[in-house]
Amino acid sequence: MVTTHNLGFPRVGAQRQLKFALEQYWRSEIEQDALQTAGQQLRAEHWQTQAQCNWLPVGDFAFYDQVLDMSFLLGHLPDRIKNLPGSALEQYFRVARGRANNQDDHPVFAGEMTKWFDTNYHYIVPELTQETQFKPNFDKLLEQVKEAKALNHNVKPVLIGPVTYLWLSKSKDETPVLDFLPELIQVYQQLLIALADQGIEWVQIDEPILVTELAEEWQQAFRRAYAGLNNTPIRLLLTTYFGQLGSNLTLASELGTAGIHLDVINAADEVEALIQACPQETVISLGVINGRNIWKTDLNLTLEWLEPIAEQLQDRLWLAPSCSLLHVPVDLATEEKLDPEIKDWLAFAHQKLAELDTLKTALNQGRDAVADALKANQQSIASRNQSARVHKPQVKQAVADALIRSSSRLSVYQKRSQHQAKKLALPAFPTTTIGSFPQTTEIRRTRAQFKKGALDHAAYQRIMKQEIKNSIDRQEALGLDVLVHGEAERNDMVEYFGEQLDGYAFSQNGWVQSYGSRCVKPPILFGDITRPKAMTVEWISYAQSLTEKPMKGMLTGPVTMLNWSFVRDDQSREASCYQLALAIRDEVLDLEQAGIGLIQIDEAALREGLPLRQSQWQGYLDWAIKSFQICANGVGDETQIHTHMCYSEFNDILPEIAKMDADVITIETSRSDMELLDAFDAFNYPNQIGPGVYDIHSPNVPEVSQIVKLMDKAALRIPKERLWINPDCGLKTRQWNEVEPALKNMVEAAKTLRAAAG
Ligand code: GLN
Ligand code: ZN
Repeated sequence: MVTTHNLGFPRVGAQRQLKFALEQYWRSEIEQDALQTAGQQLRAEHWQTQAQCNWLPVGDFAFYDQVLDMSFLLGHLPDRIKNLPGSALEQYFRVARGRANNQDDHPVFAGEMTKWFDTNYHYIVPELTQETQFKPNFDKLLEQVKEAKALNHNVKPVLIGPVTYLWLSKSKDETPVLDFLPELIQVYQQLLIALADQGIEWVQIDEPILVTELAEEWQQAFRRAYAGLNNTPIRLLLTTYFGQLGSNLTLASELGTAGIHLDVINAADEVEALIQACPQETVISLGVINGRNIWKTDLNLTLEWLEPIAEQLQDRLWLAPSCSLLHVPVDLATEEKLDPEIKDWLAFAHQKLAELDTLKTALNQGRDAVADALKANQQSIASRNQSARVHKPQVKQAVADALIRSSSRLSVYQKRSQHQAKKLALPAFPTTTIGSFPQTTEIRRTRAQFKKGALDHAAYQRIMKQEIKNSIDRQEALGLDVLVHGEAERNDMVEYFGEQLDGYAFSQNGWVQSYGSRCVKPPILFGDITRPKAMTVEWISYAQSLTEKPMKGMLTGPVTMLNWSFVRDDQSREASCYQLALAIRDEVLDLEQAGIGLIQIDEAALREGLPLRQSQWQGYLDWAIKSFQICANGVGDETQIHTHMCYSEFNDILPEIAKMDADVITIETSRSDMELLDAFDAFNYPNQIGPGVYDIHSPNVPEVSQIVKLMDKAALRIPKERLWINPDCGLKTRQWNEVEPALKNMVEAAKTLRAAAG
């Protein structure tokens, strides 16, 4: 008999109940008890949804973040909150957000947040210092175990494993993080014993770093940790996901855990080797349902593959989704507006669990026992395979043609820049912004009303044009050199373009937690991409008509579109990216045709698409950079291409950034005090750079002298003829009363710098 289990369930709730409860609590509109009750209800509901599994996860619920919960469980809190008053929950939110609630009188630095592997989920980085001590408090987890048992569920607690926990942590002094391993092993041992005392049999211990390249000391850490942890009465399911075990396969199989979970979506070809490598009695858990994407599983195909394995493993075979379902939306059933044809191809968390159950029944009782479900599944899969909305031969042909054509600019940068300088006649240290201006309540209301149909097209156009005019008047008064239209019409930099492209669909409730109470609703890229008509030309041309100053057109790049969407799995990501690139290329050419001399193509998410294993980076970068080239390089020499990236780690990918050959790149640098530019300097980066001179995430207004100082530092690294002055990123989250003084100082700083340069 095969056993099914789930690795984790999305905690936000189908109607984002958790988000709303949290925000009410933070606004002090509800008490702690009410928030706790909301959490308890969600857990109960989620267990009920998973009840068909043989083992349900407990400990996957968190009010803010599962890594932060783990830190609290281990009793490992940052020093800065240790002496603050209040409940454990208040302390928890202080680390998460810098304060317990909005009325809190003890503001502290929030913990640093960073991406969970290659997902768009963000966790709170555990902080380690020489002073760090673990003062474990297991009550909360033990309570939740009781809670689930009281509801008659068969539970398997979920923990982040000690080695991954340390790998995710950051040492705030020089203490190497692995120094904490011995103490941590003891804490985990106590925890496992406490769970065994509650009658727990299995614990899922997540060690996703086993899918990354591990240095020798980390491999040693694994051996040492699991030698210790296997000494308890608990059976451990060593859980890996998001990739292949690769060179860590032997290591994982030798750790001696009672079971191992493998992400079959990424590592199907490792199953046989893993079975061979593991001792005879080891449970092999196969993650056969994609926990990261929203497509139905091809159940018949999966069974075809699974049946011989089930035959071989018998009771040792467990089945599960590939990873926690945290990364997919909750329930497709709540979608009322999705095109029925497309909806039939999808599975959210609820539907994925049903698929898992169908597989279990088919394996345990034969396919006949679920004949109807398998037939329906086969029809959905066939409908998707054959749909003319998915497959458009002309798009595939266009991509093939584009790949044959040279994708470099007509002339080299040195030559283009002369044409551009003549045409644009910009002063030294030209000033500009990254694209968006404050998204006021008025702007958001207008967009919402238009979407609801409460505002007609003409009225919407009129209001948006007023907003554009408003932003241009302000930019002219400030004396900026290159203007932007302000992006008032855009809700989101990916959704805005996705909505206008064929091949994209949008859910109503497809929310996925990004961090804390923040959820995103990634668009669904389901088919070959075409652009029925120009997407931005009308707005940008209107903006240009209002000013003598040059207007910068504003687009989202193909790699960012791809990385922030749910992407079809029936062709490579590379193939989908090229299609997006061609659609955006058409937009670039239309803007050029309309007389727009500068076009910015944002690639905010280029870096986060990097594979988890560095040895696979180049493969990704090859097609990602090629996609950018396809979309950007069709223009004439006089047209100036800008790109923008909002992060500060470039060193390791700088040669690739240079290959993009954008005439101007604007980047985040102010927080690194321009040190980031060292890399550009050392590399002899040849084109123009706009190093962000102030941090837009903070409401602080930068002083003129501060900006001048930063630019002086920048000029030590990059010849001043190639420097621009701009903020770090778009200004949509700020207020005009913060933006105007900041930009005023920026323009003033440019004047000072020009005067000094003579
Ligand atoms: N042009 C976008 C803006 O200004 C860029 C956003 C981003 O880089 N995240 O909002
Ligand atoms: Zn940015």
